[in-house]
Amino acid sequence: MLHACAARRKGAPFRFSGNAGEIVCPAQGGPGPETCGGEKDMGEWKRLLCGLMAVALLACALPAAHAADGTVKIGNTVLAEGENSIGGGTATLNTAAGTLALKNVVVSSGLFIRWASAFTITASGMNSIAPAQGVNAIYADAPALAIRLQQDASLTLAAQSGANAVYCPSGSLTAAGPGSLNASSLEYPALQAQGDVVLEAGLKAGLGSDSQAICSLAGGVTVDSASLAAHSKDAAVYAGGASTGGIYPGTSVVLRGSTVTLDVTQGYDAVWAAQGGIVVEDSVVEIQGRKDANGGLALYSDGDIAIRGAGTQLTAASTYGISAVQNMTVEAGTLDVSAYDGDAFQAAAMQISGGQVQAYSATGRALCTTDGTLSITGAGTRVTAVSENAKRPTVYSYGTGGIFLDAGVSAENTAGGRPFEGVDKTEGVSDAITLGANCEAVGVKVHTVPEAPATTTPGVRSWFVPADGGQAPGKVTVCRHVWGAPVWAWAGDYSAAAATFACGNDAAHTRTVQATVTSETRGGSTVYTAVATFEGKAYTDVKTMAGQQGGGTAPAQKPNPKTGI
Ligand SMILES: [Zn+2]
Repeated sequence: MLHACAARRKGAPFRFSGNAGEIVCPAQGGPGPETCGGEKDMGEWKRLLCGLMAVALLACALPAAHAADGTVKIGNTVLAEGENSIGGGTATLNTAAGTLALKNVVVSSGLFIRWASAFTITASGMNSIAPAQGVNAIYADAPALAIRLQQDASLTLAAQSGANAVYCPSGSLTAAGPGSLNASSLEYPALQAQGDVVLEAGLKAGLGSDSQAICSLAGGVTVDSASLAAHSKDAAVYAGGASTGGIYPGTSVVLRGSTVTLDVTQGYDAVWAAQGGIVVEDSVVEIQGRKDANGGLALYSDGDIAIRGAGTQLTAASTYGISAVQNMTVEAGTLDVSAYDGDAFQAAAMQISGGQVQAYSATGRALCTTDGTLSITGAGTRVTAVSENAKRPTVYSYGTGGIFLDAGVSAENTAGGRPFEGVDKTEGVSDAITLGANCEAVGVKVHTVPEAPATTTPGVRSWFVPADGGQAPGKVTVCRHVWGAPVWAWAGDYSAAAATFACGNDAAHTRTVQATVTSETRGGSTVYTAVATFEGKAYTDVKTMAGQQGGGTAPAQKPNPKTGI
């Protein structure tokens, strides 16, 4: 499954550098459009080149056409300093600031930028760039490109086959709101940069591609305080390397304070990140993948995956679920992840310390670690795990550390397999499933066997068996009991009392403690005091019987079958 991701990296890193068919000034240097392929004979090339040179030199002679910092063109039109009327609107170039302001520009040619320093495009009104086949809608060879969309502004970038909507071959790309960016492409990613790609500041982005929607070849992808809706046939969000900066330096994909909807029902992985890992924080993320064996992963990283923030709502349905080659943490949020041909949550090691987690796998495991501890802890943590393959335990840990349960966890294997199974290879370990001090696996107990009895390999394998023998259960519920105030029961003659505590998570879970009863006479009454000690704490109940002295008789009462009093 993991190798499938790597193999899928075909991702077609797009090297097409320019606006095909458009003319470049010979003076500007650097990689020009690669339309000058080597197969035409020299005679033809010379004729073509002469014609191009004439136009190019003319263009180069225009005032301010080539500021020291670089060149900006729309189609073959080199933009001059100040306001240019084009495409029914204006494109205002400020070379000193390195900015281009688009206002109501609608063109069928690409926007070409070659700039030595950071460059910013601002957009107001409705703007559209829809060039011919093979031409990028925006090509920006600059250390950093920022696209800033003003309130109510829109920028629609429609690339045809063989091009990107935005391509930054040498730097980073930032698109910021509060306006709307709509970008589509065929064959190549909609947004592609060599460095980081950042969508932020209220941006509303709608992306579509039959390649990737967002591709950072060597950096990371951050969606921060923005909304992103994307559909793609390859990964929707692809980050090829660790980020070079941002809020979480070193992180490949960050979805933070955002609403993200990724539709890969016609494709593979929704989010793919290299070693830098993935962070989902306070974001509403909906991943719509294939509900069969032919799709990809919801979230995948060669590094860690961290899901946190009470505002996180992550819903995913895909062939494979969420997978980290290294560590996975879930600290908070509401997660509902279904996998149709693999594990729903898989990592080397996993710590779920908060949140409400639903995990479903049709053929694999709901929760699985491959090289370390699987721990589920936290007073408010709830995990529901369901799987349907008898040969794959629903919650499974392999490696060292085993399974540690100190939270409300329910696991069910609908095909009759084991709800929980752990293999702990630690030398001398006694069980591969352990429970927190106040946790109970209801009606079952841990059963442990040597992992490899015929060898000297250390380690044990554990699963649950019925506490009183009988058929192994298909469903096991682990409760981290929360005991409420006791309900007291007294003997008819007040000679004895018992306190019964019920669990706030499930009233059927009860504990009854016999109390110590003392009595004393106060005036004409007898005071009975019962003290019950439970979980290290003393609970007291008092009965005062008027006119009763020396423990006189009280009305007869049948003993409670539960308390015996
Ligand atoms: Zn309980």
